Amino acid sequence: MRCPTCGGKIVVKDTRKAGDEVLRKRQCLTCGAKVYTYEAIDDTDYVRRRLIKIHERELKKRVISKGIKKS
Ligand SMILES: [Zn+2]
Repeated sequence: MRCPTCGGKIVVKDTRKAGDEVLRKRQCLTCGAKVYTYEAIDDTDYVRRRLIKIHERELKKRVISKGIKKS
């Protein structure tokens, strides 16, 4: 999976069960964008991935508050 913002590599930071679905929190190694996906197994054993949200504004706030700055 690639970052929708910069195309960088995304790693899974956290995995949580949410009913029949699995919520995965991922983060881009390049720009730090946080990406959340819901994954569910279909009848056909096909894994559906739904991108739920990326808050770029929120991300910027967090980056600043953590003091991580990349020029
Ligand atoms: Zn990125």
